[in-house]
Amino acid sequence: MSVKQIQEEIHRLKKQTETTILAHYYQPIEVQEVADHLGDSLGLSRLANETNSEYIIFAGVDFMAETASILNQDKHVLIPNPESCCPMAAYLTAEKVRAFKRQHPNLPVVVYVNSTADVKAESDICCTSSNAAKIVKEISSFMGTEAVLFGPDANLGDYAEQISGIKCIKMPAEGNCYVHSQLTIEDLENIRSIYPNGQVLVHPECIRDVRELADFVGSTAQMYNRVKNSSIVDNEFCIGTEKGLMERMAQDFPNKVFHLISEKLLCSNMKKNTIELTKYVLEHLDDPMFEVKVPPEIAKKALEPIEKMLEYS
Ligand code: SF4
Repeated sequence: MSVKQIQEEIHRLKKQTETTILAHYYQPIEVQEVADHLGDSLGLSRLANETNSEYIIFAGVDFMAETASILNQDKHVLIPNPESCCPMAAYLTAEKVRAFKRQHPNLPVVVYVNSTADVKAESDICCTSSNAAKIVKEISSFMGTEAVLFGPDANLGDYAEQISGIKCIKMPAEGNCYVHSQLTIEDLENIRSIYPNGQVLVHPECIRDVRELADFVGSTAQMYNRVKNSSIVDNEFCIGTEKGLMERMAQDFPNKVFHLISEKLLCSNMKKNTIELTKYVLEHLDDPMFEVKVPPEIAKKALEPIEKMLEYS
């Protein structure tokens, strides 16, 4: 079957089974094309809450499907490839958070939504790459502290610390996203020399030296909106995040010009969800192998820091 035929079959099965497909911007473009909704992890999980479908296929990595399960305990959340896991989330376990809490008993615990459900359940509040600095500032002011515990991405923690002025103790110091953290100063200098008119946009998960050389630092949704709202003359962009977002924007904004800063910007974990597996899971909705179900007691504890973040945002 060609990709187009598989996509047509997916549309037919979706309708027949009344299933909703949510896809992250970093998914392969042919998977994005069959999604009912596209977006970042938290935005998609919230959308999952609004759908009437009993079955939700979340084309993303493990922690995203878990967040959707936390927010939608009454629905079946499925992932096309159960091996699609985020190595950055794996840097931080609940046991490690408890050890940091024992060392710093008075500090609030802020965890990035890119973390496991067990870790969220140990935290005081969650944050996204869009609101990390704001959340760090708000929670430290509410709890009267000059520092917070922050994990698992040390680069996002560093960015939040820079903007908020509040010390972020990294849990752990080496936590990073291998896709964004491998971008170098040389990559930015190189792309600027080739495309001097291109605006350089990078993700907060990049290292500080790279962030400081960019024209704009923002989450995937913030980058997308910046491109969408750019003027007709300011229409050339050098993209410093996963390639999937650039492919999405190239389709949505055909009059704008995009260059990927480096071919290294590819998350092989995100790409484990293929169009073939998306069709397969639609044909096997009741196969427990694909279901991501956070146990109710963990979901209840993990929901609180997510709701607190939404309150503060
Ligand atoms: S891009 Fe980075 S944070 Fe996102 S899933 Fe891949 S490794 Fe994890």
